[in-house]
Amino acid sequence: MDRLVHLSLALRRLARRTTGLLATAALAAWVILGGPLAPFGPALGLALVLWGALLTRRLRARLGQTGDATLLADVELGALLSVGLDAALLRFEGGLSGAFSPAVYVLVALVAAFARPVAGLMVVGWVLLLEALIRKVTLGEHGFDALITHGAFVAAFALLNLAFLRAEVARIRTTARGRVDAELARLKDDARRYRLLGAGADVAAPEHATRDRLERSSVEEIHQSVHYALDLLRRSLGLNTAVLLWLNDSGTHLRISELSTASDDIHDAPFAVGDGVLGAVVAKKERVSLTSLRPSYKVPYYAGPCPVRTMLAIPVMEEQTLRGILAIDRTEAAPFTAQEEELAAQAARYCLRAIQNERVFVQLERAKVEQGKLYRAAQALGQALGEKDVILAGVRAAREIASFDLAAITVFDEATKQHEVVAAKSEQGDVEDLVGARFAHNAGLVSMVVQNRFPLPYKGEFDPAHQIVLTKRFPWPKLPSLLVIPLLIHGRALGTLILGARRKHAFGGAVRPTLEVLASHLAVSLANARMVQKLEQMATTDGLTGLLNKRAMLEAAGQKVNAAARFSRKLSVLIADIDFFKKVNDTYGHDVGDVVIKGLGDILKRQKRTTDVVARFGGEEFVVLCEETDERGAMLLAERIREELGKTTFHAAAGPLQVTCSVGVATFPDAGRDWDALFKAADEALYTSKRGGRNRSTAWAPPPKSQRMLVG
Ligand code: GH3
Ligand code: MG
Ligand code: MG
Repeated sequence: MDRLVHLSLALRRLARRTTGLLATAALAAWVILGGPLAPFGPALGLALVLWGALLTRRLRARLGQTGDATLLADVELGALLSVGLDAALLRFEGGLSGAFSPAVYVLVALVAAFARPVAGLMVVGWVLLLEALIRKVTLGEHGFDALITHGAFVAAFALLNLAFLRAEVARIRTTARGRVDAELARLKDDARRYRLLGAGADVAAPEHATRDRLERSSVEEIHQSVHYALDLLRRSLGLNTAVLLWLNDSGTHLRISELSTASDDIHDAPFAVGDGVLGAVVAKKERVSLTSLRPSYKVPYYAGPCPVRTMLAIPVMEEQTLRGILAIDRTEAAPFTAQEEELAAQAARYCLRAIQNERVFVQLERAKVEQGKLYRAAQALGQALGEKDVILAGVRAAREIASFDLAAITVFDEATKQHEVVAAKSEQGDVEDLVGARFAHNAGLVSMVVQNRFPLPYKGEFDPAHQIVLTKRFPWPKLPSLLVIPLLIHGRALGTLILGARRKHAFGGAVRPTLEVLASHLAVSLANARMVQKLEQMATTDGLTGLLNKRAMLEAAGQKVNAAARFSRKLSVLIADIDFFKKVNDTYGHDVGDVVIKGLGDILKRQKRTTDVVARFGGEEFVVLCEETDERGAMLLAERIREELGKTTFHAAAGPLQVTCSVGVATFPDAGRDWDALFKAADEALYTSKRGGRNRSTAWAPPPKSQRMLVG
């Protein structure tokens, strides 16, 4: 059945793929049979419609597909075009050797240039075959001369185009891509120069797409504002050029940030600060004004000889740091007046403010995005209750902040001074085995982070030769990026969050602060989850023996009796009570009494099967609930418990002591159909054991008839 379905699916797929080719072949047959030569009629119209439909379908496929699908689309497109062309030539020129017959060369050239070489060859073959058939069948030509000449031309065109046009297309594509890359690089450079980027933000990662857009729009904003100021300045002061030059990070090179100029001889490339007028501004951080410049004077932002006589350069300072220079110049030899200088200084301040505003804007936008991520993380962490859910939510939230291939969480136990890996997951699956690994405090990164409460390694880069993550015993995958963040709560490190990435510089300054905040959220949630777990445990267990307490047992008992009733299964209850326990307390003291109680608890833990539920019901009385156990099985267990306790010697200051216990057993459904009845029956059986001399087990038995009569 399965195979049939597969076969029919494969056939359908094949049919869908080849319908286009089959229809093209049908059209070709129609052309060969002389369709286009027949008088205008429905057949011609139909052929035209079919041809048009196939062509649009293939064009659309060609634009939207990749891989093998393009090959098919190219072949079909080429074949369709050649069928259409031959049909047109037949109809309008009556043959294939007319004035427009070289159009086939254009077609072949196009296919050779744009399609894959294999597709190109297939189309050339098709063109030749179609032409041969038309010449023989449709036109009834006898010789092969025309076909051979034509065929040779077609092949030559295809080859030439394959060689030249293809190379040219590739060249244009590369140039265009290069231009786009250069434009993007310039934008990035601008953003860096204006300090719009956070530290480490030049890392290429998918999550940076939004940020890139933000920076791009900010850079454009800056250019608009600055250009506006410069243009105003140039027009109002009658300048040749007003230009804002910006320094690179290391302060060695200047580049035109924006300008307004009347000159068309601008040198737009970064240039070294040098020792001219601009060098003087950089060195002294003071205005420099020059007049009577000669054409031989070199102004770096002009490509050719100096076109201006007067020039003023104003440092653009941010606090104590020089960021750039505002330069203005004019062709007249008149020096700038104090008022003009003041105007230029104001323009410089305006440009700086435009950049600062955008910087604040970018920072705010970025903070908003980070806040959103942290808010969502806090929500998800708040909703997670168990430790597992908390870890899952924490790692998922971290993924929104940084991309990584590995995540692990360690927890530190103050009491034992041991670290434990509580979660670990990686793309390669090479750290999952580490879950449960414990190691003592050492000089590894995890220990250091817990101790110093500061993320490590400092730059987020892992050096496997010199750094140990957990301990030597547990080797860590050699990923280039690594970050171990403390899970801080009230200034104390609960453990660590470890992230690793195959990408270099994955945990730079752009993501670290946010990851640290997330780690704190995670720490609080993790601590809460552990506390809840502890409280739950405390509420359900008995402190002395570690067994369930009465409340938890009653909860379990109700469910077990219901299940036994629903599935008609046996269920037995045992009650064990130590004999003459008051005497133990009185003789050896309460503490020894406690040791004895704990001793019986340990025996019960050892004897119970995994499905049995054991609880300390109060004092020195214990209850065991055994699923799928009939009276015989329960009695065997009761006897084993009783015998083991009897053989156990406890040690007290006053000397060794031994105790015995009595047990009562009751089995569902004979002894009772609900918990209360069942428990009462077991208690009655216990009472029978006590009355019968103690140190024995008794199964509940229905009271004798006479008694029942009495009760009834
Ligand atoms: P019987 O053989 O009839 O059971 O005699 P008994 O003395 O054991 O009588 P009973 O079971 O009524 O005695 C319960 C005693 O257990 C009363 C109390 O002093 C003691 N006890 C209850 N809880 C604790 C406890 O947590 N620690 C200690 N040491 N003694 C407890
Ligand atoms: Mg007792
Ligand atoms: Mg008792």
